[in-house]
Amino acid sequence: MAAGKSAIRYVCYGAAKEVTGSCHLLECGGRRVLIDCGLFQGGREQDRENAKPFGFEPASIDVLLLTHAHLDHCGRIPKLVKEGFRGRILATAATRDLARIVMLDAASLQEEDARRAQRRSRRRGDLNGEPLYTLDDALHAMDFFSEPVAYDSEITILDGVRATFRDAGHILGSASILLKLDSGGCTCKVLFSGDLGNPGRPILRDPERAPAADYVVMETTYGDRPHRALPDSVDELYHAIKQTIDRGGNVIIPTFALERAQEILYYLHRGIQNGVLPAHTPVFMDSPMAISATDIFRRHPECFDEAFHQELRRGDPFAMSNLHFCRDTADSMAINHIQSGAIILAGSGMCTGGRVLHHLKHNLWRERCSIVFVGYAAEGSLARRIVDGAATVRIYGEDVRVKAQVWTINGFSAHADQPALLDWLGREKRQQVLLVHGEYERGMCAMEACLKQAGVSCRIPGRGEPIALATATAREPC
Ligand code: ZN
Repeated sequence: MAAGKSAIRYVCYGAAKEVTGSCHLLECGGRRVLIDCGLFQGGREQDRENAKPFGFEPASIDVLLLTHAHLDHCGRIPKLVKEGFRGRILATAATRDLARIVMLDAASLQEEDARRAQRRSRRRGDLNGEPLYTLDDALHAMDFFSEPVAYDSEITILDGVRATFRDAGHILGSASILLKLDSGGCTCKVLFSGDLGNPGRPILRDPERAPAADYVVMETTYGDRPHRALPDSVDELYHAIKQTIDRGGNVIIPTFALERAQEILYYLHRGIQNGVLPAHTPVFMDSPMAISATDIFRRHPECFDEAFHQELRRGDPFAMSNLHFCRDTADSMAINHIQSGAIILAGSGMCTGGRVLHHLKHNLWRERCSIVFVGYAAEGSLARRIVDGAATVRIYGEDVRVKAQVWTINGFSAHADQPALLDWLGREKRQQVLLVHGEYERGMCAMEACLKQAGVSCRIPGRGEPIALATATAREPC
C-alpha cells in the first residue's frame, strides 16, 4: 500500500495513561473536532499541567463535543476559550446546565487559590499566582454552547462529520458519542465511550451498549476490578452510619456534587423512610454546588429511568424533614460545633478542596467519627492518602491525625466496573480499541490484557501521539 497522508487522525491530549484531564482531538481532512476539555486533577503536579499549553492551537478547533459535566471533562473549557477557541460547543441540555455550575465553581476556587498564592508570593517578593481562569472567563465560555443535543439523533456537525449522542448512564446528561467521519470518500466510525455508568443504579437509565464502530476510545477507570454489589454497598453505608452515631460521632461523606450527592441523598431518604436509619438524624448537604445540581436534576426528568419517574409521582425522593441545605458559609461553619449524630455531605469528593476540608479538620482526629468514601480517589489526592492509611495528613497547613474510622464503599461508583465495561463493548468486531482514562498500571493494563486475550486489537495511546485511523492514498481508497 502506498504511503499517503493521514486523512483521519486521533490524538489524545489528556487522560492518556491517566484518569483525569480528558481531551481528545479528531482531525478529518481539514476539520478539527475536540471531544472533552477537562481539568487534570489530583495535586500540584496536575495543577501545573493545567497551566501548560494544550498541545494544539485552540483557535484551530471547529467544534467541541462534551460527553458530560464532570470537571475532568469540562474543566479546561474556559481556558480553551480564553486562548482563542471560537467554535461551537455541543452537549445535552442537562450537561450544559451542569457544566455551567461546575465551571463557575472551578473558576471561583481558582480565583480563591490565586488570591492565597498571591498573598504568599508578595510576602516572598515575587508576583506569581494568576488563576487558570476567572469567573468572567467561565461565563464567557457559556456563550459558545449551541442548542442542546438530544440523545439518539444523528446530527451533522461539520461537512463530513456526523455525531450521535447516546446515553452513557454515568451522570445526568452524560453521553457516549459516535462520530461518522468522511474525508474525501475515506470513511471511519469512531465511538468515544465518555465515562460509562454502572448498570442497575437508581435515578438514571443504564448505559446504551456500544454500537458498530471501527474504533472505540474507551475509559478504563475500573478496568481491573469488579465493584461490590450495590445492595451490599447500601447496607454497608447504613451500617457505617448507625455504628458511628451509636458511638457518638459524626459521619463525613466527601461527595461529588453531581450524581453521587443526589444518589446518597436518595439512599438516606430511603433508609430513614424504611426505619433502617434513625428518623431524627440531621443530614447536612454542605455544598452550594450539590444543592444547585439537585435543582438541575429536578429540571431534567428526560434523563430519569422509569422506576425513578414512578417514585417522583409518589413524592420528592430527595426531600427529608431533617435535611439542611447549607449554601452560606455561616451555615457551613455552624456545623463545626456539632460533636455527634450528624451526617455531613460536603465536596470535593476527592478532598482536593472545598468545604469538606473544614469538616475533616474538625472530625478526622476524633476516633468516634467516620469518614465514608463513596467515590473514586485519584492518585495524589487527600482522599487517596486517607484511604491508603496515612497516619497524619496536612489540612490548611496543619497536621491532622487520622483517628476516625475510614470506610471505602466502592459499589456506589458512577463508573462501570470491569465486567460492565466488557459487556458495554460487546463482541462486535472493531478495528481497534484505544484505552484511555485509567491508571496505567491498574485499569488500563488489566483491560488491555483482558481484550487481547479475547482477540481484540487494542492500544494505549500516549499523550500527544498521533494515531492514523484512516489513510488516504493516491492509488487505493481506504
Ligand atoms: Zn465522569
